[in-house]
Amino acid sequence: MASTITHVPNVTNLRTRLARAAGEAEKAGADALLIAPGSDLRYLLGVAGGSFERLTCLVVPSGSRSPLLVVPKLEAPGYQSVPVGELGVELATWEDGQDPFALAAGAAGAAGAGRRVAISDTTPAMHVFGFRDALPGAEQMLAGPIVREMRMRKDAAEVDALREAGAAIDRVHARMGEWLRPGRTEAEVGADIAGAIVAEGHTLAEFVIVGSGPNGASPHHALSDRVIQRGDLVVVDIGGPMPSGYCSDSTRTYAIGDPPAEVAEKYTVLEAAQRAAVDAVRPGGTAQDVDVAARSIITEAGFGERFIHRTGHGIGLDVHEEPYIMTGNELPLDSGMVFSVEPGIYFAGEWGARIEDIVVVTESGVEALNRRPRSLTVLDG
Ligand code: ZN
Ligand code: ZN
Ligand code: ZN
Repeated sequence: MASTITHVPNVTNLRTRLARAAGEAEKAGADALLIAPGSDLRYLLGVAGGSFERLTCLVVPSGSRSPLLVVPKLEAPGYQSVPVGELGVELATWEDGQDPFALAAGAAGAAGAGRRVAISDTTPAMHVFGFRDALPGAEQMLAGPIVREMRMRKDAAEVDALREAGAAIDRVHARMGEWLRPGRTEAEVGADIAGAIVAEGHTLAEFVIVGSGPNGASPHHALSDRVIQRGDLVVVDIGGPMPSGYCSDSTRTYAIGDPPAEVAEKYTVLEAAQRAAVDAVRPGGTAQDVDVAARSIITEAGFGERFIHRTGHGIGLDVHEEPYIMTGNELPLDSGMVFSVEPGIYFAGEWGARIEDIVVVTESGVEALNRRPRSLTVLDG
């Protein structure tokens, strides 16, 4: 049984983040950020909260006015762990029949023409429209690009939490031979893997992909009743959040018995592409460089059209977040950025393969957070 470190951002960190958020909002020309429950809220207050039809919103005004957390009275106990006093956050609870949008709008300081509010990306549409009615003169923009400037660069404690998540999912991959055998269905194998993801320290198995044989050619295949057969390649892409809130995500491809020579040869190209992409990760390089490094090797080998997705995605409190590792993204890589490097090749109706590691951009280069062997692991069952 794995030990887990519960990583709760300390008050100083949260205070710094709130102050930075106000500054970033100002830079972006927004009078306030309106943050809905979810990862942005967890990043700024330490709790993700939850949202139903009733409005919960953290209003972070630009400049030096105090943030306001608007919460339905019946859901307030869920926010008791937020050190509002120490953070300088005011708490406003509301009861059914009151207008929570008016409360939030008052704190936003964005009444009148020419004002702008930045609304977090995952805000329910009915709340976005509620804000529009409460602040008829204010232009609405997305808060994602503002908050992303902060969340994209992880601090040391966040990198530690991601390192811990990487080690936990590696322990699950290390046990694959216990479950992945001919004669079992993907769903049976997936249920065992899901149990192990939790047993190794995650709070839940957020996704379990077991793509056997032709199903491996569908990158986001989940599970099916297909029976795994000798000769199959099986793509296993798994992960989920740890108690820290930070997520794991790692793919390995397994062979059930020795694969045909032509398949093994193509896999070797994929392995070289994945290694080249990881090697291309360094501060000052770009997200695009990493994608090009992988794609050029697969293209030169003659099956570039089989690599049908971007090379990777950022990871943190969300499994998929900025930065996206793709051609066209010339974002300079900076130390503290964490993302997946996961090229894949997919032969529809036949087989597929993918190798995925989470990597951190360091001061001098790159650190891989997943360490399991990347070559084709043959399980003989
Ligand atoms: Zn994916
Ligand atoms: Zn994955
Ligand atoms: Zn991924």
